[in-house]
Amino acid sequence: MVTTKTKDGGAARWVRPLVRKLHAYVPGEQPKIRGLIKLNTNENPYPPSDRVLEAVRGAVDGRMRLYPNPTAEGLRVKLARLHGCDPAQVIVGNGSDELLAMAVRCFVEPGVAGGGGGRAGSRPSGRQIVQYFDPSYSLYPVLADIHGAVRNAVPLGDDFGLPTVAGLRRGGRWRFDAALTLVTTPNAPSGRGYATAELEGLCRAMRGVVVLDEAYVDFARENAMELALRHPHVLVSRTFSKAYSLCFQRVGYFVGHPDLVGALHKIRDSYNVNGLGQVAAEATLGDLGYYRANFRKVVATRERLASALAAHGFTVSPSDTNFLLVKPAGPSARDWLGLLRERRILVRWFSAPGLDDRLRISIGTDAEADRLLRAVGEVLGKGGKGVRSGRGGGRGS
Ligand code: PMP
Repeated sequence: MVTTKTKDGGAARWVRPLVRKLHAYVPGEQPKIRGLIKLNTNENPYPPSDRVLEAVRGAVDGRMRLYPNPTAEGLRVKLARLHGCDPAQVIVGNGSDELLAMAVRCFVEPGVAGGGGGRAGSRPSGRQIVQYFDPSYSLYPVLADIHGAVRNAVPLGDDFGLPTVAGLRRGGRWRFDAALTLVTTPNAPSGRGYATAELEGLCRAMRGVVVLDEAYVDFARENAMELALRHPHVLVSRTFSKAYSLCFQRVGYFVGHPDLVGALHKIRDSYNVNGLGQVAAEATLGDLGYYRANFRKVVATRERLASALAAHGFTVSPSDTNFLLVKPAGPSARDWLGLLRERRILVRWFSAPGLDDRLRISIGTDAEADRLLRAVGEVLGKGGKGVRSGRGGGRGS
């Protein structure tokens, strides 16, 4: 048995103070219960294509004793072709989460003893700042804290629109000298898409590195990849997780200037992308037609669900992603979480101020949307009676 208590404060005393104080990122629930409709983690409801599954099966043999290609070279070459750039402008990660963490380590000076938000009263140097909008991807503050960087979270307005450069200057809180600015575009959890022209205006005004986190961009009307190819300080982050039904394999990538990409390669783990993930992602790029048809299905279901929920009295934020952020009618958002769970439907609720009156609903199949709408009708038909407290909350995606 492990001894948990010792006289001198327990084994935790060997852990760095910064790490002891950390709050870990909370991912959405992955329940063991069968038959639940999972609309809580923005996974794609459609499976990987047959060609991808075949390619993965075909790679499961004795070769698994060998290390995979250290830089995912085959995949980088194909991605470079897809985006019209050089393979030296592409780095692949164990999910885009890994690359976001690497960007913090690569571009930001750790400066805060004990971590977490900087010393009160002193103006931190831009070199120590990880900057992002609030709300946006809730991993960013966690990554800043892990690194002992200074967080600068700048609130978005009620419509979650991208502030103008002039507005940010007037507001006084935005740091144009931040070492690293992370912009979720389209945004999460709001779902709001941003025009490339607006993003370019913001990028031009920044003196540090900007990562445009396009995790959901395949469901959007516009993408900003051209900015990573045009501006040396802009990186675009993409993932195979959402639009390409490959969460399980953990493959994401950055595109940007070879000097930035080269620097990231220096701090990468030697074999950061697992072999089957490389195989699956390469096969995915060989079957894009299948995935593009799925994007169209997801977008059509999203639009139908948005109108139907609005007809039930929900306030639905416009979405360019594979999820909807809604302010529900009737019971509180937190209660809706429990009410839907009782009906075997999982959605996401965030306890954060400004978001706690909303639910984030991932777009599933049409049949799942119908089940959700039936459940909503049932709850509202009962006038929200029998409301029980919801579970979950926290942060994450
Ligand atoms: N960015 C955003 C905005 C996300 O919501 C997610 C998924 N949680 C990611 C990046 C990370 O995706 P992955 O690590 O699966 O590539």
